[in-house]
Order: sequence, then C-alpha cells, then structure tokens
Amino acid sequence: MPTLFTRIINGEIPGDIVYQNDHVVAFRDIAPQAPVHIVLVTREETPGLDALPASGDHQHLLDAVAKVAAVVGLTSYRVVINTGEDAGQTVRHLHAHILGGRDLGPVVGS
Ligand code: AMP
Repeated sequence: MPTLFTRIINGEIPGDIVYQNDHVVAFRDIAPQAPVHIVLVTREETPGLDALPASGDHQHLLDAVAKVAAVVGLTSYRVVINTGEDAGQTVRHLHAHILGGRDLGPVVGS
C-alpha cells in the first residue's frame, strides 16, 4: 500500500509541488504551521530517521533543503523531522518540514 506521500508524488492525490529531483519531492503542507510550510519527502518509502537503509534517497534530503527554501523565497527557515508517534510523526515516510515566513521563536523553552 503506497504511503500518502507516494500517492502525492505519483499524482494520485493533488499536491502543490514546488521542487523535485531524482531523490526528493517538495510540496506545500495542506495544514501550514507557518506562512511558508513545505514537506520535503524522499521518493523512496523510507519510514523515518529510525529506520534508514544503508544508502538511498535519504542521503540527498539535506542537500535539497536550501534549494527548496530558495524556490519558495525563504532566506531564514526551520527544518523539522518528526520521528515516531510521540514526536508527532503521522506519515511513516521520511520527510522534513521546512517552515518560515515569520519569526519562529525559539525551538526549546518557549
Ligand atoms: P508529520 O506529522 O511529521 O508526519 O507530517 C505530516 C504532514 O503531512 C502534516 O504536516 C500534514 O499536514 C501533511 N499532510 C497531510 N496530508 C497532506 C496532503 N494531502 N498534502 C500536503 N500535506 C499533507
């Protein structure tokens, strides 16, 4: 059963794709937590940081972050990778959230 994100990548579910290459695809989050909120996902269905294969598309995830940020006009942004249920990971398909467009405040201690 393909993940929700694979279905977006394959065009079965509509997605506002802003960037893609051979390894990753980036699209706007459907429930944005900031003025700009992008989901950057691996093409491979790697479940998360807690289940990485020895090699694969995840090795290209960080490389794409600044490119995606530039495409959507962000010069300052936060990157979040939720891992596991208690951390709020709802889709078990490795992805990074790229958030920006406002003062995000501190990550910890607010
Ligand atoms: P996470 O909770 O870290 O697993 O992130 C999953 C993200 O996917 C959430 O921020 C959701 O708002 C987002 N999401 C769920 N469905 C869609 C969709 N159809 N298109 C874009 N983003 C989605």
